Amino acid sequence: MRGRLIRLGSAYEQALNIHSYPDVVARLLGETMALATALASTVKYDGLFNLQAQGDGPLSMLVADIDSEGGLRGYARFDEAYFNSNDRSDRSIPQLIGTGHLAFTVDQGPGTDRYQGITPLEGATLSECAQAYFKISEQLDTAIILAADPGGREPRAGALLVQRMPGARGKTRLEMEPDEDWRSAVILMSSLTPAELLDTEIPSDDILYRLYHENGVRVFDRRPVAFRCRCSREKVANTLVLYPPESLDDMKTDDGVIVASCEFCRQEYIFDDDQLTNLAAE
Ligand SMILES: [Zn+2]
Repeated sequence: MRGRLIRLGSAYEQALNIHSYPDVVARLLGETMALATALASTVKYDGLFNLQAQGDGPLSMLVADIDSEGGLRGYARFDEAYFNSNDRSDRSIPQLIGTGHLAFTVDQGPGTDRYQGITPLEGATLSECAQAYFKISEQLDTAIILAADPGGREPRAGALLVQRMPGARGKTRLEMEPDEDWRSAVILMSSLTPAELLDTEIPSDDILYRLYHENGVRVFDRRPVAFRCRCSREKVANTLVLYPPESLDDMKTDDGVIVASCEFCRQEYIFDDDQLTNLAAE
């Protein structure tokens, strides 16, 4: 079995500072960022790992991506009117995101194969949706606990993932009965409360030791994660040149410029007519 313990502090806080999210959206964004970090760390890649949940509900998109250097970012797209209209206690994925899908992509740049996994959103929570993906698409027993607390002085998000590796015992595929070791790993895991997962006073090693010392736990080097946006004027320009001139005209403000705003970090990129002409010429 392998596992990942993810605990996000400032990376999550910075994502929250950029936008003004309703509490329930902020929570799910934290879970999304923690889940993306956990899943990305189980994949060998040199590029970008992206996790997206999209649907027809009032929270239409949750996205987080993380590069191989630990640069993490995320944002949520939501219907403000819905969340403002009354005190929403809906927490479930079907109520918030609605009918939709969860997708993972690994992009290693031009000239490489793009890996994508996609699954319908099936589950009340984000962790249930991700677990369903691994069970159905990857045939891997996977247990995931996600937690996020956007309030308080220090917003925190966390994830604990345990996965049964295929072939580790010759016959660990899903068609076989889950073995006792796996069951006990999941039961031990579920003894961890969300509050403990987010508690900065409890060192990560202590959590892992408490849960798994009887079976033996080997802890690998921790890897830092930091909020980092990868947007640039050049990337925006590369997108703009794909549009026909009429569409570009439609995008212009009353001042006759195009203002492109990064959804992750809110950085604005402004292009006037001269710059657009130059782009087209280049
Ligand atoms: Zn940005």
